[in-house]
Amino acid sequence: MQRDQSLQQVKDTLQWDIIIIGGGATGLGCAVDAASRGLKTLLLEKYDFAKGTSSRSTKLVHGGVRYLEQGNIRLVREALFERGRLLKNAPHVCHTLAFVVPSYKWWQKWYYAFGLWWYEFLSGKLSLGKTILLSKKEALQYLPDMAAEKLSGGVLYFDGQFDDSRLAINLAQTAIEQGATLLNYVGVTGFIKEGGTIKGVMATEEMSAVTFEISGKVVINATGVFADEVLQMAEGNKEQTIAPSQGIHLVVDKHFFKGSVALMIPKTEDGRVLFAIPWHDKLLLGTTDTPIENITTEPKPLKDEIDFIIHHFNLYASSKIGYSDVLSVYVGLRPLAKTGSEKKTAVMPRDHHIVVLPSGLIHVTGGKWTTYRSMAEHAVDKAIAQAGLKKLACKTQHLQLHGWVAANDDSYLSTYGADAEPIKKQIASDLSLAEQIHPKYPYTKAEVIWMVQHEMAITVEDILARRIRLLFLDAKAAMEAAPMVAAIMASEMQKDEAWINQQVAAFNKLAAGYLLADF
Ligand SMILES: Cc1cc2nc3c(=O)[nH]c(=O)nc-3n(C[C@H](O)[C@H](O)[C@H](O)COP(=O)(O)OP(=O)(O)OC[C@H]3O[C@@H](n4cnc5c(N)ncnc54)[C@H](O)[C@@H]3O)c2cc1C
Repeated sequence: MQRDQSLQQVKDTLQWDIIIIGGGATGLGCAVDAASRGLKTLLLEKYDFAKGTSSRSTKLVHGGVRYLEQGNIRLVREALFERGRLLKNAPHVCHTLAFVVPSYKWWQKWYYAFGLWWYEFLSGKLSLGKTILLSKKEALQYLPDMAAEKLSGGVLYFDGQFDDSRLAINLAQTAIEQGATLLNYVGVTGFIKEGGTIKGVMATEEMSAVTFEISGKVVINATGVFADEVLQMAEGNKEQTIAPSQGIHLVVDKHFFKGSVALMIPKTEDGRVLFAIPWHDKLLLGTTDTPIENITTEPKPLKDEIDFIIHHFNLYASSKIGYSDVLSVYVGLRPLAKTGSEKKTAVMPRDHHIVVLPSGLIHVTGGKWTTYRSMAEHAVDKAIAQAGLKKLACKTQHLQLHGWVAANDDSYLSTYGADAEPIKKQIASDLSLAEQIHPKYPYTKAEVIWMVQHEMAITVEDILARRIRLLFLDAKAAMEAAPMVAAIMASEMQKDEAWINQQVAAFNKLAAGYLLADF
């Protein structure tokens, strides 16, 4: 991924078949889909790839057990199919994870097992493993730190887990390999219209403030919770098609809840599910579902949300956690499609909606990371029809994503998939590149250089938030690593001392929001 090349392609190309606005799961999925069908595809992302919701998920590739309870069988089935496909197409960033659902009354075990057997049945040939009943002793063997008092047993079931923003980077790489042009830090600021119909976009390169007028046959709005802002630009109306809902996660040390399986709390006091999930050798707790009005790129957690997660985790864990145990808190905004008059976001459907607006803009709302591929397929089908492009069949169902490998080792570099080998070779040719960027974590200088050279990382935040996940795992350690990361980047990118200082200051300001110090 070479940013300079992509900028040059934007300058040199007279007209694109498809322009996609937004570089999250939805937009990147559309770019892979459109490019692999042979369409001349451009994707523009205002910040970095996955800067929005797509780096802030619960990291589950799942059908959504909860949606089954809500009776949304079509969504669960579609998501289970997509789960199976993703695990096959990107096995280096997605894997099977076992979950234990604890039960406290004899009948609960059967109640949960019935639902989970049904869930497994719906996945058909793409099932990830058998759902089984557990005795109390067996449940505690899986999760030894679960509060044992009154526990009667549980159910074991299987779902998928992934690294969301690493998958996003791999999608960007795949799209480019399929012939698309992608640019981060280029925001769309307006539309070019002829007779009321969109014929292209106006865009600004955020680092240089250089502006472009870019011509395209059709434009897809894949801007997540910002979709209404773009809708306003295109159509000039103030209609709200998104009902944003906030979800927070707390990350704590793994020693609080040992075991390699996840805990699924089936019913919190407000009737939702909560997870405690092992992730990158830490424990991820979440999430919440709070309707919000204010849409920003760095949403803040509410005290009530933090207390809610700590309270519920402590009900199920033998060692209790408090504010000082939280290594990082991160917040995401769900771009739920506003349908009907429902105000409670927790019960709003997670389906995606794709509409063609009077200006010709393809407007995508809702959906889940898990279903990004099918969403993209539907959106590109609509775009082809809208622009009168040649009907080309979707090719992504079995398309292996960048980094795909037949067999992964279990080192932490395995998340790079096929790219682990060249990173290891770089280290072998210059042992100084094996130096860690933080003494407590395995990440090396070599990875930072790799990310600048091959993953379009141009800020310290790009590295520490979305390519290496240190900000999400341990915000204080990420702040400590920032000066070294900035210095490595500066030498790769020919930047000066002032740039290093500016980058470190900007990163520290951002990272402070991932600490619980202010609560
Ligand atoms: C708390 C939480 C937990 C979740 N957990 C899961 C889970 O475990 N599994 C799952 O499947 N799903 C999960 N989801 C849902 C999933 O994360 C989202 O559905 C998905 O990430 C949305 O992707 P998106 O591309 O639509 O939006 P985003 O990721 O927000 O991408 C939109 C992009 O558009 C860019 N943009 C905005 N305006 C412009 C402009 N003018 N020009 C250019 N670019 C622009 C933004 O910078 C942003 O990067 C979760 C969601 C939340 C909030």
